[in-house]
Amino acid sequence: MKKFVYADNAATTKITQPVLDAMLPWLTEGYGNASSIYSKGREALKALNSARETVAGCLGAKPEEIFFTSGGSEADNWAIKGVAHTMAKKGKKHLITSVFEHHAVLHTMDALRKEGFEITELPVTPQGLVRVEDVAAAIREDTALVTIMYANNEIGTIQPIAEIGKVCHEKGVLFHTDAVQAVGNVPIDVKEQNIDLLSLSGHKLHGPKGVGALYIRRGIVIPNLIDGGAQEKSKRAGTENVAGIVGLATAMEIACNGIEERASKVKQMRDRLIDGLLQIPRCRLNGDRERRLPGNVNISFEGVEGESLLLWLDQNGICASSGSACTSGSLDPSHVLIAIGLPHEVAHGSLRLTLGEFNTTEDVDYILEVVPGVIEKLRAMSPLWERIIAQEK
Ligand SMILES: *Cc1c(COP(=O)(O)O)cnc(C)c1O
Repeated sequence: MKKFVYADNAATTKITQPVLDAMLPWLTEGYGNASSIYSKGREALKALNSARETVAGCLGAKPEEIFFTSGGSEADNWAIKGVAHTMAKKGKKHLITSVFEHHAVLHTMDALRKEGFEITELPVTPQGLVRVEDVAAAIREDTALVTIMYANNEIGTIQPIAEIGKVCHEKGVLFHTDAVQAVGNVPIDVKEQNIDLLSLSGHKLHGPKGVGALYIRRGIVIPNLIDGGAQEKSKRAGTENVAGIVGLATAMEIACNGIEERASKVKQMRDRLIDGLLQIPRCRLNGDRERRLPGNVNISFEGVEGESLLLWLDQNGICASSGSACTSGSLDPSHVLIAIGLPHEVAHGSLRLTLGEFNTTEDVDYILEVVPGVIEKLRAMSPLWERIIAQEK
């Protein structure tokens, strides 16, 4: 039988059985509208309230600070546009972010730039970390918001969030973090870590797709992104996705309860994979080795095209991703790999393998069995590799 290894957990994850079990009643007989007055509606509302408490509990927030959205992208858009538009009325039209954010943040910034906002995109270190000093130095009188992602989705590096939040608060600036990759993988406490707004998404933590949440600290008022009915305290209209929200909360509860134990198991597999892959000549690990997500492996192989690598891995039943051009639907290689200083041709040869709790050491060993052969085959056909070898002589 052909082996199948899913090693793309940063792209999306599988819904687990307990999550599906928790969702099913709300997709079948529990179809009531949570705004309806009769008991079928009230039951849905109860499930919604309970989910809100669970999500808040996982973050150290209060239930009234949690607003459900259609996912991480919506939460990012809402947080950033919302704060920007509120603060613009007070004459603050400067926003700070980093060059290697998710496109849900960067493209939101592009939209705001067209509206007349000024955006500072901070650089990151070659290890893929935002420097707290850079954040401090970039804050001005007219800065409305700082938004820095908690953990990078490509190279997995974990940012000094509490320190960045502290600097923001010392200078009286609001702080948002896109924590889509971090929630469930690292312990988060929004109060202790000085976070004012935080985005999360269900499908990155074994919950369903199309549901997420935005934490908005009490006292912060931002305009609606979606206008309509009175759902989510009249802040986010649309009949609630009860099943999705219950699924998100169930997934978060499971994820947040076992972080330490799961992280140490996944880290062991990650390190085995990194050490094994680094045996291949002329490759490098992207992103800080220590300050990275438990499941993230990102390695660039010289003289290889990421797209071809992925196709060969798929032939062998391995799902992975790459910082190569074609996979992103543009001609440029990953903005994250460029941000950490990789030359274009090296960025093109990068491979991201993201492990999760359902991977096994056998999966890792299978990947280590397949990848070196594929790299060798691709290099044998590559004019770029020929040139690299020729230069060495
Ligand atoms: C996946 C992801 C998003 C987008 O979340 P969706 O729920 O898919 O919209 C945003 N930010 C980061 C860092 C992500 O990894």
